[in-house]
Amino acid sequence: MIKKLLIANRGEIALRIVRACKQLGIQTVGVYSSADKDLMHLRFCDEAVCIGDAPSTQSYLSIPAILTAAEITGADAIHPGYGFLSENADFAEQVEEAGLTFVGPHPDHIRLMGNKVSAINAMKKAGVPTVPGSQGTITLHNAEEQARAIGFPLIIKAAAGGGGRGMRVVERFEELINQVQAAKTEAKNAFGDDTVYMERFLKNPRHVEVQVLGDGNGNALHLFDRDCSLQRRHQKVLEEAPAPGIADDIKQPILDACVRACEQIGYRGAGTFEFLYENEQFFFIEMNTRVQVEHPVTEMITGIDIIVEQLKIAAGYGLSYHQDEITIRGHAMECRINAEDPKTFMPCPGRIDNLFAPSGAGVRFDSHLYQGYSIPSYYDSMIGKLICHAQTRKQVVQKMRHALDELIIEGIKTNATLHRDVILQDEAFTEDAQNIHYLENHLLKNDCK
Ligand code: ADP
Repeated sequence: MIKKLLIANRGEIALRIVRACKQLGIQTVGVYSSADKDLMHLRFCDEAVCIGDAPSTQSYLSIPAILTAAEITGADAIHPGYGFLSENADFAEQVEEAGLTFVGPHPDHIRLMGNKVSAINAMKKAGVPTVPGSQGTITLHNAEEQARAIGFPLIIKAAAGGGGRGMRVVERFEELINQVQAAKTEAKNAFGDDTVYMERFLKNPRHVEVQVLGDGNGNALHLFDRDCSLQRRHQKVLEEAPAPGIADDIKQPILDACVRACEQIGYRGAGTFEFLYENEQFFFIEMNTRVQVEHPVTEMITGIDIIVEQLKIAAGYGLSYHQDEITIRGHAMECRINAEDPKTFMPCPGRIDNLFAPSGAGVRFDSHLYQGYSIPSYYDSMIGKLICHAQTRKQVVQKMRHALDELIIEGIKTNATLHRDVILQDEAFTEDAQNIHYLENHLLKNDCK
């Protein structure tokens, strides 16, 4: 087993990883920037090391700083969490070259999936359906010919893209060349790589994703699916599992194809296949080679601790379950709680004057917040996740409303009111899953889209 694990992350996910380590008897090393010495998980870690200044490039994104911290503490493994270095193949490679265990996939697989064009090609080979799109990458020379074959509207995307950035929808042929040029410049600036590709722009799809685990030796399984369609600016706001209202005979072949793809490449660890779902058809868009923010909804319906599984797989214990042992119990939903103004969506860092975390049967609050804690302004504004589990989707909605009523965060503004007063009061959403445009087009006022 792993003896001592360094957590190369912060906030709620760092605390979540500490908990999983305690479960397995693994010692923990927390790392923090100079703005983060008051992070809650550091109190529960066996050791804590300051790795640099507040800007993440000088701390959480600094590979030398993290490897040095591992060396001086004698850690034998690193968990990258999500964001930061979690999908950086060079980091994974250097961790392994230093003789440490990287809790994640093989660096080659991070690289394969990190480039969306190579990821799509790999999926096509494995028989996973993809969005009709360009054959490989787009240049100013082949753009018109490829666009004609795809049809309009289409979407130009950065091969190295992520976080919802670097995408451009093109409605008409006349706009194409300008947009390709602009997309390439944007991609170069944002990701240091100007490679772009095109896909048919689906009008009203849902975002449905499949959670997988692979042992790295050709065995894999799925933990069913999630719906993450409620998004603002391509960022998820509320997620649920399983994805509602999709017939088994449509879903099952996709779950099977994801498992097959993992088995074919010998995928190791946790991963997520993201799809757009429209007119009863699934279209692969990308694979995330790390644990997702929304993993708790899957944990609630399957009873499987995904971080514990990541650690066991990394330590070489393989998969703890057979596919036929995994079943869905009930329904789960997660509201992301952000330190932001619910009207303008501007980040609202500051001091937590008062906090009450909801609890009770089937209610979980994954957060590092405590009374008196000051949220620094340097990092992501997500400060917690409220997760509810019940027998039916209807009961989950009801439970979530009550949990949000109980949630008290004073001193800063949060988006909890958006969840409580808008999303969970909307009849169309509480009756049925909606598409990826629903939140922006129907629930948010124009000025705060
Ligand atoms: P990122 O890695 O930046 O998150 P994704 O490829 O996962 O990019 O896409 C993010 C979101 O953008 C999707 O959840 C969906 O809302 C939208 N999107 C992406 N591709 C398409 C498409 N072909 N048609 C319509 N919407 C799309």
